Formats: sequence, C-alpha cells, structure tokens
Amino acid sequence: MGSSKTAQALMTKFNYEEKGKRVLLVKPATDNRDDTIDEEGRVHTIVRSRIGLKQEAVALAPGDSIGALYRSMNAKEPVDVIICDECQFLTAEQVNEMKDLADESDVPVLCFGLRADFMTQLFPGSKRLFEIADSITEIKSVCRCGRKATVNARFDENGEIITEGDQVLIGGNDRYEGMCYRCYRNLIRRRDNGR
Ligand SMILES: [Zn+2]
Repeated sequence: MGSSKTAQALMTKFNYEEKGKRVLLVKPATDNRDDTIDEEGRVHTIVRSRIGLKQEAVALAPGDSIGALYRSMNAKEPVDVIICDECQFLTAEQVNEMKDLADESDVPVLCFGLRADFMTQLFPGSKRLFEIADSITEIKSVCRCGRKATVNARFDENGEIITEGDQVLIGGNDRYEGMCYRCYRNLIRRRDNGR
C-alpha cells in the first residue's frame, strides 16, 4: 500500500538511536521478499521502505515468542524500545505478549502496520492491536482523487481491482494502492458493470 508506515518505523528507530537508545526491530516472517542469505546460510530479514531506507530486523514466525526474544536480547545489552513493522501479520497471541512486555518490563512497544486488507477486513494482528493498544495514531496517505486513503485496494497484472482471494498474497504480480472508500467502490462498480 502507498503509505509511509515502514519509513515512519525506520525514522522512529533512527530517532531513538540518535539518543543512544537500543532498538529491537522485529517483523513478522510472513513477508520475506527482502530477506537475504549470507555465506553461512543465515537469513537476514530486511525492513525496506519505498523511499530507500532499510534496516535489518529480527523475523518473528507465527509461533515465535517476542517475550523470549526480548529477554535474550536484553540479557546481552538492555533494550530500550521494541519497534515492529508489518504488525498486521502478528498473531493475536504475539500482540498479547507485546502488551504484557510493555506493562511488565516497562519497555515501549511501537507497532506499524495496516488496518485492513484489500477486502476491507481487519488483519488478525491489527484487530488485536485495536483492542488493546494504549494509543493509536493514524498515518495518513492520499487517494488518487486527493481524499484520504482508507482502503488497501489490490489490483491484478491487468490493473483490474480484485475483491476476493487470500488475505495475504506475497510474491505475485498483484499490486496494492491506498484509496478512499468512494474510489474503491466506484472501481468495483465499474468492473462489475463491464462484465
Ligand atoms: Zn478517492
């Protein structure tokens, strides 16, 4: 989606590091397009923004414990803040664990992600975050018509809007575009009338 959330996540990381703070950057393992593998076979998960910023992150598979990761990292050198990109792909359990960490270990946890998928349904991670986050900030982006984009529309390789399919599709030729709900609905009507 054409939002700047990854850039915002990386800028937030930079702001903390500029103040001498140690950041634990994590990312759900669902999206591994930007991973690289070194000579020893270790996978490096990269958080990459469209404006060119990139940083290495720790990948979180669906069964991974953010609490265990935090405790092992913190034992080596204290962690001051946890930043998660693509947090919509977290499981509800991982979000619960992050909330417990924030409360019990007194470490700030900042999650950046999408609210809803291309069918306008909440992602599981986002749903749980909306339920228990202490505060939520909207990162605004603009629709092609100039209104605020609220929908993450998916298009196929022919540019036709898609309204059914798997919630998470990675590595295909589909592309995403942030749109206002009105433009999104108009495109669906136009597509359906053309059939
Ligand atoms: Zn619009």
